[in-house]
Amino acid sequence: MNYYSTNKTAPVASLQEAVVRGLAPDRGLYMPERINPLPASFFEELPGLSFREMSFRVAAAFFGEDLPSDTIRELVYDTLNFETPLVRIDEPIYSLELFHGPTLAFKDVGARFMARLLAYFIRRQGQELVHVLVATSGDTGSAVANGFLGVEGIQVHVLYPKGLVSEIQEKQFTTLGQNITALEVEGNFDDCQRLVKQAFMDTELNERLNLTSANSINVARFLPQAFYYFNAYAQWKQHNDPSGLVICVPSGNFGNITAGFFARRLGLPVKRFIASNNSNDVFFEYLHSGVYRPRPSVATLANAMDVGDPSNFARILDLYGHSHQAITADIAGARYDDQQIRETLYRVYQEKKYLLDPHGACGYRALEEGLRKGESGIFLETAHPAKFKDTVESILGESIVVPARLQAFMQARKQSISLSAGFDDFKAYLMQQKKS
Ligand SMILES: *Cc1c(COP(=O)(O)O)cnc(C)c1O
Repeated sequence: MNYYSTNKTAPVASLQEAVVRGLAPDRGLYMPERINPLPASFFEELPGLSFREMSFRVAAAFFGEDLPSDTIRELVYDTLNFETPLVRIDEPIYSLELFHGPTLAFKDVGARFMARLLAYFIRRQGQELVHVLVATSGDTGSAVANGFLGVEGIQVHVLYPKGLVSEIQEKQFTTLGQNITALEVEGNFDDCQRLVKQAFMDTELNERLNLTSANSINVARFLPQAFYYFNAYAQWKQHNDPSGLVICVPSGNFGNITAGFFARRLGLPVKRFIASNNSNDVFFEYLHSGVYRPRPSVATLANAMDVGDPSNFARILDLYGHSHQAITADIAGARYDDQQIRETLYRVYQEKKYLLDPHGACGYRALEEGLRKGESGIFLETAHPAKFKDTVESILGESIVVPARLQAFMQARKQSISLSAGFDDFKAYLMQQKKS
């Protein structure tokens, strides 16, 4: 199947080209040319399938024309080494916990799948080394670094703002070694992102090295997130009448929720979606005004959602034929400031004995306020609360348990290379990298 660019001025690409490039040459995002709905028989079988098996069937709907079935199964089975349990908090609100993977955040699935697919293409083509550049404000860096760790033929370079990521986050990508290098930039997240963008546009660099991005613009990273939605539905359906399901997604770059829109196009019976934002509410504003006005991000307690110009907005517009009316028919919005996040996290812990993280708090609250009569809601709990230990403890006024997996990262030694925020330094660093 071919992939076209949302900007419509670049030539169509094969799956391999779309994955290796990340962004289309016209700066648009790649979209699959068709979405083939899954057969009714699949939905009947769904409750009896394992998470791995249902995900394999979903992946085959996307990639079945481009990859052998055995390869897809292997990629998916190898990616999903954990479960995503559905927890009932308080009828009719459920939490789908996406934080049982290696770095305790939902980005693990996309990162692991992309790493394995890219490695497959490299092996098949005998291609040169691929250099993955990723700018992070915290969570993306850890998921990508751990997802790509030890994968042959790929070098990962993580750029992060010095002093602006939490200690736990920093340890998750600076302690790994092997094919992962952490670059500590004297600047903020926007500087890191600018350096990466500039590298992709630099002719000399691109002639020398195969560069790609592992942000959610990459189809191999964002499409696998559709797996969760099937898993959520299968678990939920065991206890509920299968109509009136609302799924709420704490959103930043909107990659996760866009994968949900694809799941729905594959036939998943979701009635509607709610996109929950923190104070970075450009999407919420768009839903209400019909005008999209990106602006610089502001720092909040739910920092993985601090995005002022969500990259997957282009995909949403494309999927809905640029119709504001069609978008608002399927998707509602919500936004919560830090005070509301604090209040929700504290109250749900006291009253329901469920510990949310600051992102999940936005998701829970949007369902609490947005569900209509007869509806039932699932929000995606996108990270383990211990990833935001200091914030969560200051809200609760008590200490929380840190899982052993996180503690292990904390004990390892940080290794990083310091860089200025100037492009010349970054370019010089990249020019020294091996080509093959
Ligand atoms: C990345 C992230 C989000 C936002 O996901 P998008 O796909 O960018 O919308 C939400 N919560 C957590 C914990 C994240 O790491």
